[in-house]
Amino acid sequence: AQDKRESLYVINQWASKFFKHTLWETELGQSIGLSYFRERGYRDDIIKKFDLGYSPEAWTSLVDEAAKDGFAKEYLTELGLAVEREDKSLYDRFRGRVIFPIHNLTGRVIGFGGRTLKKDKTVPKYVNSPESEIYHKSNVLYGLHLAKKAILENDVCFLVEGYADVLSCHQAGVEQVVSSSGTSLTTGQIKLISRYTKQVVILYDGDEAGIKASLRGTDMLLEEGLNVKVLLFPDGNDPDSYIQKYGASEFRSYVEKNQEDFVFYKTNILLRDAKEDPIKRAEVIREVVESIGLIPDEIKVSVYIRQCSSLLDIEERVLLSELNKIRLAKA
Ligand code: ATP
Ligand code: MN
Ligand code: MN
Ligand code: MN
Repeated sequence: AQDKRESLYVINQWASKFFKHTLWETELGQSIGLSYFRERGYRDDIIKKFDLGYSPEAWTSLVDEAAKDGFAKEYLTELGLAVEREDKSLYDRFRGRVIFPIHNLTGRVIGFGGRTLKKDKTVPKYVNSPESEIYHKSNVLYGLHLAKKAILENDVCFLVEGYADVLSCHQAGVEQVVSSSGTSLTTGQIKLISRYTKQVVILYDGDEAGIKASLRGTDMLLEEGLNVKVLLFPDGNDPDSYIQKYGASEFRSYVEKNQEDFVFYKTNILLRDAKEDPIKRAEVIREVVESIGLIPDEIKVSVYIRQCSSLLDIEERVLLSELNKIRLAKA
């Protein structure tokens, strides 16, 4: 079993080299893949730091090379690098995509994300490696191996949605950043973060989906005892698009100035939708108290209840009785 795992790591490492070689050393890799990254604004040092690559358009480029090197078919398919046809022949899963290798904590390659270069909305924007013996999505955070040190030094972890956001943050000099890349945040991922810091700032996309995900993520982080701040980007931007539009120093000061404690964030977001409707406003209060109720630390709970009371101009005892009701209903 140990031999198998080692083989899987070796094959992924080999594949990552193949994709990198294609990006940097082949004509099509340069004219399509490398130009794509550069046009998005990524510097070469960042492209190298993240081991980015390109997968050729042809159906069997990687599979043919892998056969020459004698890699086992069943390992190629388990890793999701190859897909098996009905006649048992193999073809490449990643074709004509730019490649983001996914690393574990020690920096070994455990999977890949591949982004299409087509504008065509019917093609999935990202294709990701499936689960394998060495890749369990729910326990992986993209970028963590490059972020560990900065997370410890700054005692905070920035949580973003996508690969591109992690890259741009690094380019902007912000390295304490990880992404759950396509899966919604899991408890396993949160436990991973809390080994390094108890402070998380959510920097999700400034669109409806991002806002929804930020509220879900907030509750999960609170339940695990982490302190949560949230930051909303204007006009539907994500961290990557914000950085590429406004630059690194503008991004850093935006992040500094606009982080909000989750109570303010959630209250403002929900009140914005409730407008002046009293029933909806009452519902907002209940939902905010519900989030506060998830916090395992009673001292923090009482601090937040007080804050919430002045923010919403509602007596503390009303909020506390609501909190008790919610807790009783759950018990
Ligand atoms: P880009 O900036 O390259 O357009 P993004 O990261 O902003 O990409 P989003 O649509 O915001 O893309 O998605 C966030 C993340 O979710 C992606 O980085 C990727 O990890 C994942 N994702 C997006 N689309 C898919 C998909 N079709 N299948 C699987 N994962 C996806
Ligand atoms: Mn999005
Ligand atoms: Mn995005
Ligand atoms: Mn984006």
